[in-house]
Amino acid sequence: MRQLIAGNWKMNGLRAEAAAIATPLAAAAVACDLLVCPPATLIASVAELLAGSPVAVGGQDCHAKPSGAHTGDISAAMLRDAGAGWVILGHSERRADHGETDAEVRAKTLAAVAAGLTPIVCVGETEAQRAAGQAEAVIGAQLEGSLPPGFAQGDKGGVVAYEPVWAIGTGRTATVDDVAAMHAHIRATLLRLLGPAGGVVRILYGGSVKPDNAASLLAVAEVGGALVGGASLKAADFLAIARAAR
Ligand code: PEP
Repeated sequence: MRQLIAGNWKMNGLRAEAAAIATPLAAAAVACDLLVCPPATLIASVAELLAGSPVAVGGQDCHAKPSGAHTGDISAAMLRDAGAGWVILGHSERRADHGETDAEVRAKTLAAVAAGLTPIVCVGETEAQRAAGQAEAVIGAQLEGSLPPGFAQGDKGGVVAYEPVWAIGTGRTATVDDVAAMHAHIRATLLRLLGPAGGVVRILYGGSVKPDNAASLLAVAEVGGALVGGASLKAADFLAIARAAR
């Protein structure tokens, strides 16, 4: 399967900035799949800018319920209606800032799949957990708690993003050996949890992916692409990462 380079714009961007990022992407020829996940206010306009291009659009979160009294929240069907085909779920910033648990991420993932969105479920250990030798156990437990049955059954298969918390926005990345070991562990866990469907789930690496380190990270076995935060806010940097993909 082609690698997926996904941009997480986080809480960044007004309409003018969105056009400056999205317009060059629409015209670019790259050999990987490309996805941008703008803030919810920009999904419809970015989807319009990218209509007819191979670049897909996603959300950064959705509610587990399809509708109702949930002020400020957005359902999976609303994301889809605005033009999104994908959604990031369980990002460590949501787990930290909003106290999202594995069970909540699982419920959101079920809702996303039911609405026809492809979920990108994020997992990652803290620096203290890695230092304590618990990284693989933490990731295994997050996967077990966050992935519902049917996670991998959509036409694009479902995606897991391994994002060590200490590497997000810090300029530090995991070593290629650590990435290789963790992605092998995630693949084995997916096969155990999901059966053969776990073999086709793309496993992204995320955490300070930049143009100058993308080629070495994307060359690691079982790395199915990258989830890119800061560097996705400049079209030139995001495209340089995409050109490093297989
Ligand atoms: C992210 O937030 O998913 C991320 C990987 O951020 P950054 O690339 O800025 O580390």
